[in-house]
Amino acid sequence: MSDLTRKTAVELRELLDAKEVSAVEVATAHLDQIAAVDDRVHAFLHVDREGALDAARRVDAGEITGPLAGVPIAVKDVVTTKGIPTTAASKILEGWKPPYDATIVERLKAAGMPILGKTNMDEFAMGSSTEYSAYGPTNNPWDLGRIPGGSGGGSAAALAAYEAPLAIGTDTGGSIRQPGAVTGTVGAKPTYGGTSRYGLIAFSSSLDTPGPCARTVEDTALLHAVIAGHDPRDSTSIAQPVPDVVAAARLGLQGDLTGVRLGIVKEFTGEGAEPGVLAAFRESLEALVKLGAEVVEVSCPHFEYALPAYYLIAPSECSSNLARFDGVRYGLRVGDDGQRSLEEVMSLTREAGFGPEVKRRIIIGTYALSSGYYDAYYGQAQKVRTLITRDFETAFSKVDVLVSPTTPFVAFPFGSRTSDPYQMYLADLFTIPTNLYGGPAISVPCGLSEGLPVGFQIMAPTMADDRMYRVAGALESAVGTLTPPAL
Ligand code: GLN
Repeated sequence: MSDLTRKTAVELRELLDAKEVSAVEVATAHLDQIAAVDDRVHAFLHVDREGALDAARRVDAGEITGPLAGVPIAVKDVVTTKGIPTTAASKILEGWKPPYDATIVERLKAAGMPILGKTNMDEFAMGSSTEYSAYGPTNNPWDLGRIPGGSGGGSAAALAAYEAPLAIGTDTGGSIRQPGAVTGTVGAKPTYGGTSRYGLIAFSSSLDTPGPCARTVEDTALLHAVIAGHDPRDSTSIAQPVPDVVAAARLGLQGDLTGVRLGIVKEFTGEGAEPGVLAAFRESLEALVKLGAEVVEVSCPHFEYALPAYYLIAPSECSSNLARFDGVRYGLRVGDDGQRSLEEVMSLTREAGFGPEVKRRIIIGTYALSSGYYDAYYGQAQKVRTLITRDFETAFSKVDVLVSPTTPFVAFPFGSRTSDPYQMYLADLFTIPTNLYGGPAISVPCGLSEGLPVGFQIMAPTMADDRMYRVAGALESAVGTLTPPAL
C-alpha cells in the first residue's frame, strides 16, 4: 500500500469503500506521521491517539457511514473538544478540558471523522505567524525556518506535512486563508453565519468564522459541507440551506469558466506586495481567462480603510470577550493565597496568563470603547465597515467574484515581523475586507515565488459560497496542486 498520508480525502474514501484499507489503518498512518515529523513541524499542541483510533474503529464496525467517514482531521485549538485540552494556545487556559463539543466538532464526530488532535495557533487567534503561540511557533514544512502563517498555522502545516488530510481553521481576518497561502494548501472562509460559532473560543464575535482546510479544492468543499448549516445555538447562524459547494467544486474542476466575470479591485494596486506574488497571481488569472472567464476592473474605494477599521473592531470585541478569563472560571489562577482580593488575583492571573499581543489588543480595544473615544474610534470603524460592505455589493452587481493574491508576501523568516506589529498586520491586507463584509472567500495555491507557495484569493457574495468553489476548482484544474518537500 502506497503511503496513505499522501492521499486526498476523496482517495481515502475510495480506498475505504473498496475495503482496501480500514479506517484504523488510515488513522494509524497519520498518527505515525505525526510521531515522525511533528517534533520538527510542531503543528500539534495535543494528539489524541486513543480518541482517533476509537472513532476509526466505529467506522470500521459500520456504525457510521458518509462521504468523509474514516477520514482523519486536525482541529485548531480555539475550537472546544469535550474532555480534550483546549487552550487557544494561551497559558491562561492551560490544562482546561472543555465540558462540551463545539457544534462543528459534533458534526465531525457524527460524520465519523477521527480527530487526530488540536493544532497550534497564535494565542486566541491573534496573529499571522504562530509566533504569538504561548507554546512556541509552528514551522512551515516548505522551509522550517519560516512561519506557516497564522493564526491557524498549525492546521495548515499539518496538511503540508501530511500529518492530516483535512483540518479545521477559524478566520477572523484571514487566519484560514493566509496560512493556506503560505503553506501551499487550500483554506476557505465560509459566509459569516454559514458555520456555527458555538463552542468557538470567541475573539471577535462579529467576524469569527470557522471553516475547512485541505490540500485540494474538492476535499475542502467536502469538509465545508459536513460542518456548515444552521445551528440554533448560535444566534448569528443563518437559517438557510447551504449552497451545494461540492457540486460547484466538481463543476469548476471540469475547467470551463465561460461567462464567469472575475473582478480585480483597482485599489489593490499591488503596492507593498512582492513581485513574485504578483507574477504568480497574474499568470493564474491568465489561466482562468483561457478557461473562458472575463476579467473586469472594479473600484472598491473604501478597501484602503479596511485594515485600520479591523484593528479597531477586532480588538474592541476581543477586549470584551476576553474579560471572561478572570482566574475564577477557567484554567490558570495566580496569587490566590487567601490574603489577596479578588481584583488582585484577577490582575495577577491576567498579567501572567496573556501574552504581549493579546494584552496589546485588550488595551487598544478597551481604549477604543471607552466613553469619550467610542464615537471617534469604534463608531467610525463601524461606519467604515458599512461602506466596505457597500463596495462589495456594488462590485458584485458587476462581477461574479472578486480575485486577488491572498497575502502580499510569501512565508517570511521567523522574527522578521515581530518587532513592529504593523508589519505583521499587513499580512491581512487582502483578506480583511471580506471579514468586514461577511462574505465567503477561499485561498487556492497558484504557484511558487522563490520556491515558496503563493495563494490566489477568490471572494464571493454572502451565501454564494458555491460560486467561489467553482472558480477555485477551475483554478486547480489549470494550475494543479503544490507538493511540499518531503520532511
Ligand atoms: N491576523 C489577523 C489578526 O491578527 C487575523 C486573525 C484571525 O483571522 N483570527 O487579527
